[in-house]
Amino acid sequence: MEFSERVPPYPAADVLASAQVNLALGFTAFAYADLYEPHRLRDLLALFDDYVEDRNPALATEFGQYRATLCEGLPPQTISDLLVRMAPYVGEFVAKLFGVASERDRQRAAIQEELDTVFVFRNEVLAQAQEKFRPEDLITWDLQQLQRQIEILIHIIGPGVHASDPERALAGVASELWRLRQRCAARTSSKEPADKRLEQDLCAVRARIEADSEARATFADCLTETRAQAFVLALYDRIERWSFAARHDAGINATVVNWVSFKQPKKTDFQHLVHAEQLQRDGYQVLIGPLARRRRRDGFALTDSRYDERHVLYEIDHCIYCHERDTDSCSKGMRNRRDGSYKVNPLGVTLTGCPLEEKISEMHVLKRQGDNIGALALIMIDNPMCPGTGHRICNDCMKGCIYQKTEPVNIPQIETNVLTEVLFMPWGFEIYGLFTRWNPLNVKRPVALPYNGKNVLIAGLGPAGYTLAHYLLNEGFGVVGIDGLKIEPLPRDLSGDWDQPPRPVRDFGELYEALDTRVMTGFGGVAEYGITVRWDKNFLKVIYL
Ligand code: SF4
Repeated sequence: MEFSERVPPYPAADVLASAQVNLALGFTAFAYADLYEPHRLRDLLALFDDYVEDRNPALATEFGQYRATLCEGLPPQTISDLLVRMAPYVGEFVAKLFGVASERDRQRAAIQEELDTVFVFRNEVLAQAQEKFRPEDLITWDLQQLQRQIEILIHIIGPGVHASDPERALAGVASELWRLRQRCAARTSSKEPADKRLEQDLCAVRARIEADSEARATFADCLTETRAQAFVLALYDRIERWSFAARHDAGINATVVNWVSFKQPKKTDFQHLVHAEQLQRDGYQVLIGPLARRRRRDGFALTDSRYDERHVLYEIDHCIYCHERDTDSCSKGMRNRRDGSYKVNPLGVTLTGCPLEEKISEMHVLKRQGDNIGALALIMIDNPMCPGTGHRICNDCMKGCIYQKTEPVNIPQIETNVLTEVLFMPWGFEIYGLFTRWNPLNVKRPVALPYNGKNVLIAGLGPAGYTLAHYLLNEGFGVVGIDGLKIEPLPRDLSGDWDQPPRPVRDFGELYEALDTRVMTGFGGVAEYGITVRWDKNFLKVIYL
């Protein structure tokens, strides 16, 4: 299964305008306009509660108590555990509401497949191979022949499926042989129940090798093994040797240099956090950024297209989910045991963690499960304006990560990936919008309150102003915002008015603009005028709307 591309350029607006259709919600008692009515949002919350009650009555009761008591007296680990167990129901319910259950399933399956292949190869096959051999063993190996054996195995066991993705192709074969090896080992231990399909699967591998003349000759020694376990071990040995060589032989290593499987966290050097090269120029010593990483700026196009899904999953896999031990310092800050004060890193930075105390570790668990909607709901408990945070905006969470001596988990990349994976689902923009007004995981304010008759003027619509506007609106205030910059109005059909809700947006690509042709709208304060080409300002429109 392939990941769909989620990095710019996105589909042009005119391509998608015709695709806009009316939004019929998956629960027929609700119409799209109801999602803007506080009393109907309350009804929707009641429907969600019934939905969970039907499927998991014990969890519904536990969560109901949590909501009623506003988490009074509950240990942090218990709250985290409740949220992690409830978030998948939010993902499932919202996917049904917007008719995107199949897209959610596709995302979950794609992520599971990556974990079952690339990350099994990385964490099991590669890790064990490093323990098994020593660099001097390479001298006795015929690396050319080994490379050819691997190519044949890929061709025979996973033919052509991932021709454009050699890492995935190799990982698919390696993980399949690793699983066969595990199953053979389990069969010999009497504790495991009989694996009736094992013999069939082994015969299929043997038959595929025997059917190909080059494979038959290359793996003749393996084919002489009549015992199933010995046959698998002989094939698996080739994978292990190649994996070891790929780390230690410069020639093979050059072919895997960008593979996530071989990525290792670097040591953190606080004195050289920004890598620089030294040059002599006009009699002066100057520092410049590494030439190999220099990106020429062409106009105002976005220069940072963010991590792809596999790199994001590497970060997820790097996380050790500290909320389970209440040590998630990325969220809560890193404290001295002695007096409870915050620790300070060698650069004098106080490690407070995320200023919003976003449920980062819990969100990572949902992302690992492949549930981007559930993960976004967790983010938005504490960070409803997340389009204005994340990658290229803030990193206090990373500074507070438990990994202080090696590269921390790149949380901002994960957060922005979760957001964009939802935004680019069908109706993803509407899903984000709903979570700003309705979020069952946010027990303190699960639904926006109706208008309370009081109005507030906010001067300044930068991150502080628009965040304040959000919270005041959800408390029932009427809000008007002004800014020193002229704020351009958005099309009335998209923003809605007193009489009409906004037009539902099916494809976020319709709103997406290339940064080098985009006209400033004046909304977002420093986020609009203070950041140029590294951050995707399309996120401002998500907040503005
Ligand atoms: S991001 Fe770092 S501190 Fe936070 S849960 Fe993961 S490993 Fe722990």
